[in-house]
Amino acid sequence: MGDDRVKEEALRMLGLFPVLPKLVVFDLDYTLWPFYCECRSKREMPSLYPHAKGILYALKDKGIDVAIASRSPTSDIAKTFLDKLGIQSMFVAKEIFSSWTHKTEHLQRIHRRTGIPFKSMLFFDDEDRNIEAVSKMGVTSILVDDGVNLEELRSGLRNYASNSASSNTKQSD
Ligand SMILES: [Mg+2]
Repeated sequence: MGDDRVKEEALRMLGLFPVLPKLVVFDLDYTLWPFYCECRSKREMPSLYPHAKGILYALKDKGIDVAIASRSPTSDIAKTFLDKLGIQSMFVAKEIFSSWTHKTEHLQRIHRRTGIPFKSMLFFDDEDRNIEAVSKMGVTSILVDDGVNLEELRSGLRNYASNSASSNTKQSD
């Protein structure tokens, strides 16, 4: 499936949910692209997982912001790759630094930068410990198995909608 078809399908999917996140946060290594960028050279031409670009464009089209939270120790390589892929300017925040906290610091910085509350965010990552820590902050967090794709987007949107429905019920109690 080409980028346009993926985008079209993602937009159709986004139209099915009554509530949508305001911001979607992505990890980089093994979430948006299938490698550790610290093991690569800036001179290489990187590629994303097959559905990643179409999903990013669909989110932007729908008015949903996108951001990056990566613990990569080589932010220079990561940013060079984002540039080469032509997607660097899409992100409202790019937090790329190594840290012993399991991305809670990354998400806090993204929150400070954007003003978007944790409960309005959806997060994709391939590491269990990050998912565990970030979901405790109130962010709907999805563990991806083989990079972000339409199937993972669907479960993310579904979980987001059910989390926001249950938090509304709690408020009205
Ligand atoms: Mg990763």
